[in-house]
Amino acid sequence: MAFEWPHSAEAAISLTFDDGMRSQRETGVPLLNQYGVRGTFYVNPKDDYAAMLEGWRAAAEAGHEIGNHTVNHPCSKNFPFISEFGRRSLEEMNFADIAWEIDETNRRLGEVLPQRGPVSFAYPCYQPFVGRGAKRQSYVPVVLERCVAGRGRGEQSNDPRYCDLGYLWSWPCERAIGQTLIGIVEQAAVQGRWAILTFHGIQEGHLSVAEGDLAELCAHLQRSASHIWAAPVAEVAQWVSEKQKIGM
Ligand SMILES: [Zn+2]
Repeated sequence: MAFEWPHSAEAAISLTFDDGMRSQRETGVPLLNQYGVRGTFYVNPKDDYAAMLEGWRAAAEAGHEIGNHTVNHPCSKNFPFISEFGRRSLEEMNFADIAWEIDETNRRLGEVLPQRGPVSFAYPCYQPFVGRGAKRQSYVPVVLERCVAGRGRGEQSNDPRYCDLGYLWSWPCERAIGQTLIGIVEQAAVQGRWAILTFHGIQEGHLSVAEGDLAELCAHLQRSASHIWAAPVAEVAQWVSEKQKIGM
C-alpha cells in the first residue's frame, strides 16, 4: 500500500543547511523565501549564541526550522579540524556528554527564537556514535529522546514506511548542478519517498553549491507545489511519525 502524504502529494522534500553559515542567512533564506520554500537550518549556538541566533530570527518567523546541530560540533578525531585543534572528539565522549550538547542547544534555541514545536537534529559530520573500539555506541537513542528526528546521510531517499526517524538518510549536495537536484526530487516523486537534501555553503565556504543551481531547484519546487510537499524536516518527521505509529 502506498504511503499517504498530506494533500495527496507524491513525495516530501526537505532542504537542509548545516553549520549556520553566513551565506545561508544572506543568500539562502531570501532565495527560499522568494520561491515560497521553507527549509531547515542547523546551527551551533556557541558562547555568543544570543547575538548569533538573533540573526536567524527573521528566518524562524518566516517559517523555516532552526534545528539542532549541537553546541560544539563534535566529530571523529580522524578529522584534522578536531585532532589538530585539541577539540573534544566523539571517541572521547559518552552519552552524558552528547546529551548535554543536544539539551543545551535546544535550551538556547528555545530561549532566543519563537517556538514552533519540536526541532530536528543533524549529526555533525553525519556521525552518530560516541566512544571508540569495543566501547563505541550509537547515540541515536539520545537524539530521539530530545528531538523529533535525526538527519544523517545515506544512499537513497527515505521510504516513509520504513525509515528510522533517529537516523534519516540525506543526499549530500555540494557541487551538484540544478538538473541533478531536480532529478533527486523527481525520483522521490516516482517512488513516493521523502528526499532530504543537505547543503553547506552557497557560492562560498566549505562544500558549496552554486546559487544558480539552488535557485533552479527552488523554482522547480515552486512549480511543483501542488503535488510535491516541500517542508522542514521536523514537520515531515511529525507526519511520518504519526503514520508509522498507526502502522502505515
Ligand atoms: Zn556540520
